Amino acid sequence: SIILAIESSCDETSVSICNNGKITANVIANQTIHQNYGGVIPELASRVHQQNIVPAVEQALSDSKVNKKDIDAVAFTRGPGLLGSLLVGVSFAKAFALAQDLPLIAVNHMHAHILAHFIGEKNPTFPFICLTVSGGHTQLVLVKDFNSMEIIGETIDDAAGEAFDKTAKILDLPYPGGPMIDKFAKEGDLLKFKFAVPKIDGLNFSFSGFKTSILYFLKSEIAKNPNFITENLNDLCASVQHNIVNILLNKLKKAADQYNIKEIAIAGGVSANSGLRDGLNSMAAVEGWEVYIPAFEHCTDNAAMVAITGYYKYLAGDFVDQTITPAARMEF
Ligand code: ATP
Ligand code: MG
Ligand code: FE
Repeated sequence: SIILAIESSCDETSVSICNNGKITANVIANQTIHQNYGGVIPELASRVHQQNIVPAVEQALSDSKVNKKDIDAVAFTRGPGLLGSLLVGVSFAKAFALAQDLPLIAVNHMHAHILAHFIGEKNPTFPFICLTVSGGHTQLVLVKDFNSMEIIGETIDDAAGEAFDKTAKILDLPYPGGPMIDKFAKEGDLLKFKFAVPKIDGLNFSFSGFKTSILYFLKSEIAKNPNFITENLNDLCASVQHNIVNILLNKLKKAADQYNIKEIAIAGGVSANSGLRDGLNSMAAVEGWEVYIPAFEHCTDNAAMVAITGYYKYLAGDFVDQTITPAARMEF
């Protein structure tokens, strides 16, 4: 089977093709327009999706040397995400499927982040636990099967990616801040600064108090020394990253212990973070975990993860019809 997959939930327009479970194209058109605003501007995002989507589809077809007529199904991200952005991808998918008389497959973006682990050779064994850390979500998920997943812990306020991005904004770094913090952290002292660690019972997370604690700390330091941030940028980034990674890994360990599972995965944009990757590998060596870390291009938003999710739904015969609409807050 050949599946065309469309991802447009936020600010990446991405198109992928999956041929019998193998990804043969993964075109990602990034939107640079948001850098000047310190965050994604929804109105601008949907307009750029409209400009990018047709060329991205044509590129994906040509990359995988596939003709429109050879496609067997169209998969698309239905949600969660920005409504205007989703609308572009969903409308395109529906129009394409109608014109070519193809079945439609609706994909949950958060399931897709997790199932990105089934692209390529090294796949987790069910049941596994996935820590999904992205721009809008922080979830601990018990993954029982391709179509059977349960959220066992999640953030009660900000997402881990937001904690990175908002801290970066305070540090005057451009959006998205996660990769910038990661870069400067490599040269810094991770134990130099300490911030308030949230006390949340169970498997849930909280990052808003942590962000506020950084904000107040910086305000008081800058009052004493206006150049405090520039003089301490590396150490600040290293310490912030170390704190966020510790919060994440402590809960991941708690979940693994509670469910007695040693198959452990991370997913989502923040799983590209080198501190998290290193920390996870160290913890895995101590705990005897088998860990699964996505390739960099499958961490942040991409349609390959939608294509592989679509492929398993295709095998299960899980289709939707032309009445389908995008869902900004899609049920998990
Ligand atoms: P969601 O998946 O929750 O809808 P999203 O799709 O916007 O949100 P992703 O594309 O999965 O999120 O991830 C983007 C996030 O990942 C941003 O917050 C970004 O800062 C963060 N990120 C990307 N690379 C890194 C990195 N190396 N270190 C830390 N954070 C990173
Ligand atoms: Mg993005
Ligand atoms: Fe995402």
